[in-house]
Amino acid sequence: MDDVPDGSNELYARLAAFEGRAAVVSGVGKDLVNEPMIRHWCEAMGDANPAYTGPDAIAPATMLQAWTMGGLSGHTGHTGHTGRSDRSDRQSAQDELFALLDGAGCTSVVATDCEQEYFRALRPGDRVTFDAVIESVSPRKTTKLGSGHFVTTRMDIRAGGELAGTHRFRILKYAPVARPEHKRRVARPRPVINRDNAGFWEGVAEHRLLIQRCAGCGTLRFPWLPGCNACGSPEWDTVEASGAGTVYSYVVMHHPPFPAFDPPYAVGLIELAEGVRMVSNVVGVPYDKVRIGMPVQLEFMRAGDEDEESEANEGNAEWELPVFRPAHEGARA
Ligand code: ZN
Repeated sequence: MDDVPDGSNELYARLAAFEGRAAVVSGVGKDLVNEPMIRHWCEAMGDANPAYTGPDAIAPATMLQAWTMGGLSGHTGHTGHTGRSDRSDRQSAQDELFALLDGAGCTSVVATDCEQEYFRALRPGDRVTFDAVIESVSPRKTTKLGSGHFVTTRMDIRAGGELAGTHRFRILKYAPVARPEHKRRVARPRPVINRDNAGFWEGVAEHRLLIQRCAGCGTLRFPWLPGCNACGSPEWDTVEASGAGTVYSYVVMHHPPFPAFDPPYAVGLIELAEGVRMVSNVVGVPYDKVRIGMPVQLEFMRAGDEDEESEANEGNAEWELPVFRPAHEGARA
């Protein structure tokens, strides 16, 4: 915080005056706590804990916030909550705070973290109610993203009048760091290499695309996994892909833009001649000429460059990625 601009103390005093002001008053859950939402959540999370099913089921504690959300259609009323008379006041508290920060140049926002505490289990049939307060506004902080203020909102969620849990949500509202144009290009994110997939990346470094083969039942699998989905065996060896494949499906990415990529670009689901599928880029052809069924051929693309800026990875030496290029017309374009 060496670069505190003039007038920031006055600004901070105005920001701090928002501490304790209501952000949501007397919100009511759009749905009762219910079994279908619990089941969907557990399926999405892969959580088979028996506590969440059956006649004595409770809701996963981490669903706390889900019961307060209005979904795509939102809650009844302007702010998303119940139509109480103080709606316009509580709307204006957060609006005013954000307008003040915008006016001070803190026009960008990023969610930084949330913390939850649980006091009482929620069960199907519970009706949740909730209130939220602007709990704290930090002094000006300087981060890698830029300089600004952390705003923490605390939501208290109740059921049957009892506090079931609290949800604290923190954002950073900040003035983005202006970067010289030539520094804006960022390196492509590196793959996360772990015990389960290290062999795959060792293969890539040797320009070999390796598919795992179960030693128990012979089933090929991709991406790399510690065990066989067909028979459960943890034993495996590899086969080297011929490099021939076809575009099984694809999407064209337009949005959101990601600094290391240059949209629009095609992301293909490539079916290898061996039968497994992998997600990869289709290169050497305009994004709007990629087609399902298009024959493609493996090649290795250099990624990473020591001249590129990489905040996530120090020393971003060159590395490679398997990509696919049309095998017929348009090849070597
Ligand atoms: Zn197997």
